[in-house]
Amino acid sequence: MDIDLSPDDLKFRAEVREFLSSSAYKPGADYGKWRDEWFAKAKAKGGWDVPKWPKEFGGPGWTPTQHYIWEQETAQATLPWDMPFGIGMLAPILMGYGSKEQQERFLPDIRARKVNWCQGYSEPGAGSDLASLKTKAVLSEDGKYYTVNGTKIWTTAAHMADWIFCLTRTQDTGVRQEGITFLLFPMKQPGIEVKPIITLGGAHSVNTVYITDVKVPVENRIGEEGKGWTYAKGLLQHERTGLAGISRSLVALEKLKEHAASVKRGNATLMDEPAFRAKVAALEVDLMALEFTELRSLAAAAKGGALGPESSIMKLKGTEIQQRIAKLTVEAGGIYAAGWGMPIGAKFARGGMASYLASRAYTIYGGASEVQKDVIAKNVLGIRSSQK
Ligand SMILES: Cc1cc2nc3c(=O)[nH]c(=O)nc-3n(C[C@H](O)[C@H](O)[C@H](O)COP(=O)(O)OP(=O)(O)OC[C@H]3O[C@@H](n4cnc5c(N)ncnc54)[C@H](O)[C@@H]3O)c2cc1C
Repeated sequence: MDIDLSPDDLKFRAEVREFLSSSAYKPGADYGKWRDEWFAKAKAKGGWDVPKWPKEFGGPGWTPTQHYIWEQETAQATLPWDMPFGIGMLAPILMGYGSKEQQERFLPDIRARKVNWCQGYSEPGAGSDLASLKTKAVLSEDGKYYTVNGTKIWTTAAHMADWIFCLTRTQDTGVRQEGITFLLFPMKQPGIEVKPIITLGGAHSVNTVYITDVKVPVENRIGEEGKGWTYAKGLLQHERTGLAGISRSLVALEKLKEHAASVKRGNATLMDEPAFRAKVAALEVDLMALEFTELRSLAAAAKGGALGPESSIMKLKGTEIQQRIAKLTVEAGGIYAAGWGMPIGAKFARGGMASYLASRAYTIYGGASEVQKDVIAKNVLGIRSSQK
């Protein structure tokens, strides 16, 4: 495995660093204006506003190593606020399975960050077992539109979304993965009701979405009727790798060490305490091992290999590491971590507990940890379940 960066990669890294420092947010500046300008400048660099999009759709067409460099460098910079649902989730499905008309209709607004999307996959009773979803779509007799009825749950940002990409059931064949149809429709219309779910960390990011007699023209169906499962699942491996957040954890761990070194314990600091040091060291070792797993898959991808079940290893370990960092940050912050935005104690500690509680969700969404372990058991370790 060769992880040394080539002269071209080093040149690219310097260019990324230069771009990120010259376009950095200046405190006090108008945030919205800066955000628009940042994306415009990134686009002018040759598709850096959509780093993961392929060249034929206006992306930069980077090598896997260039993507890795981008991840590492951007983890240390402040990037404009962005939502993953359009850019990172729906766009690849449109590129892979949408018609030319659908690509021309939806991709430009996704790229311009003009339309916010949400992901309507999970339902009450269909989370890990997504294929048991029941939201029903019935095609009209003239074949022009579907009538959709059902409930989606845990829908992130549904209250801010303009459109939803939604898995619906158009047929019950007995094979649950069949008869699922992928539909797109606007959120702001009669028949759609969004109710907030306030999570453990006190935030409103997820919702329940009730869908009643919503009419969806057939032009808004991606690909063939009944083939939605194929389109939906293609994305999961990429989603899982993204959720591992390895570069961000490397930066967060360094910050944790700095913070712990600022917490006084008698004549020394928390970072000098053997018990705390041991926990940080264990975390560092696990993170390093995970980084090497990422580099191994990067080396395989650079040689043309496909992303395999290692995405499940990265999701599983990456999210556990993020939770451990959040937990140690609470430990370092002590009683001040419990404050919900109150201006007391060390600055790093504020909201620490809220972040820790929010981090419980990392091992649930994008495929719960137990499910990742199943994938690893079957596809990496070759262990077959005795159950039929
Ligand atoms: C903060 C947050 C944001 C989310 N955002 C979205 C979104 O935008 N759009 C969307 O569609 N969904 C979203 N989800 C839903 C998420 O994908 C589901 O919560 C997840 O798939 C788990 O499903 P579930 O909640 O129904 O739990 P269940 O599937 O009922 O799981 C309950 C428990 O049983 C375990 N379990 C389940 N199956 C197995 C098995 N085969 N073997 C061993 N153990 C098993 C699970 O690991 C878990 O511990 C979000 C969830 C959260 C928490």
